[in-house]
Amino acid sequence: MAKPAGGSCNLDCSYCFYTKKTAMYPGPRRMSPAVLERYICGMIEANPGPEVFFSWQGGEPTLMGLLFFEKVVELQQQHGNGRRITNALQTNGTLLNDEWGRFLAKNHFLVGISVDGPREVHDDQRCDRRGMGSLDDVLRGVEILKRHRVEFNVLTVVSALNAQYPEVVYRFLRKIGAQHLQFIPLVERAVADSDDLESVPGEVELTQASVSAEAYGDFLCRVFDEWLKRDVGKIFVRDFEDMLNLWLGNPSTLCVRSEECGRAVALEHNGDLYSCDHYVYREHRLGNLLADDLPTLVDGPQQRAFGQAKHDTLPQQCRECRWLFACQGGCPKHRMGTTATGEPSLNHLCAGWAKFCEHADPTLRWMVGELRAGRPLIGRR
Ligand code: SF4
Ligand code: SF4
Repeated sequence: MAKPAGGSCNLDCSYCFYTKKTAMYPGPRRMSPAVLERYICGMIEANPGPEVFFSWQGGEPTLMGLLFFEKVVELQQQHGNGRRITNALQTNGTLLNDEWGRFLAKNHFLVGISVDGPREVHDDQRCDRRGMGSLDDVLRGVEILKRHRVEFNVLTVVSALNAQYPEVVYRFLRKIGAQHLQFIPLVERAVADSDDLESVPGEVELTQASVSAEAYGDFLCRVFDEWLKRDVGKIFVRDFEDMLNLWLGNPSTLCVRSEECGRAVALEHNGDLYSCDHYVYREHRLGNLLADDLPTLVDGPQQRAFGQAKHDTLPQQCRECRWLFACQGGCPKHRMGTTATGEPSLNHLCAGWAKFCEHADPTLRWMVGELRAGRPLIGRR
């Protein structure tokens, strides 16, 4: 994923882990034409298949302005050699207008927009730089996407606050017309911004806003039950779809539930490439696109070791867990817990994952049976 404006953002969300990265990159953060072209050519070269997928994130990528993204599309067409190019844009939605709507629709961008729930929770966490809630501006952005028929999904950060109101949050997202949802657990270290430049393994103190394992598990269980009542086949919840996929015996589509990491590299605005969006730390810098080749960096020994470490560092408790196939120990960034036998590297969210897997298992087994028998799931449970 590329971060053309680095950690710059027009909002000041209280829990954001990425705006802290501005301490690593002081000064204006805007991707230059040279970095952009190297990136687009490198991505096309690194993906030999018929389709090349670009993901634009931040900070807030729309700060780059429309001209930048028009150049993106122009370069993709110029270097694409007839390949199918797909673009995804993750945004807070507050800067969208009709001009953006027309551009995104015309170029078939898939937009991810961040909404944490109704005003009481969203505005508490996602504020602008004056401390004012951003929900009204975000919903205006959602209306623009709907008006221009831009395909969009909603990303909801599950924190200690909104995890208390699973049904309220889910019904709100449904009410605003979201048909594709993803829930991202908030698990953040309590460190000063200037100290967040190195990764620290092992037990660390978490921010108050971080969600506990129990609350996260409870949130997923209750949203799952609400979804089952009437939305199967109509509203796509990424976590649930992926779990059904796993119960069907297929590999996960999500890095957090895959055996290894390694394919989700993050590109900073100046061409610095990191092992992952969650590991933009000095020791995880792979190189710079102006000096190094993207395919070489992605397939190089440093990145391979990073990817394999996810599996190699699993504690015994995970290796013996019945849910390993569906969890794979979760994201290594969240492995700050300790097992009952004192082994490090247990995922902070472990108890929540286990609770949710137990809860969803009978239904997922039933769904697998129905699908294998050729019976559609829409509107049934
Ligand atoms: S470190 Fe976490 S977010 Fe990054 S690729 Fe691995 S599982 Fe995914
Ligand atoms: S549920 Fe817990 S023990 Fe089981 S694989 Fe996941 S993190 Fe490990």
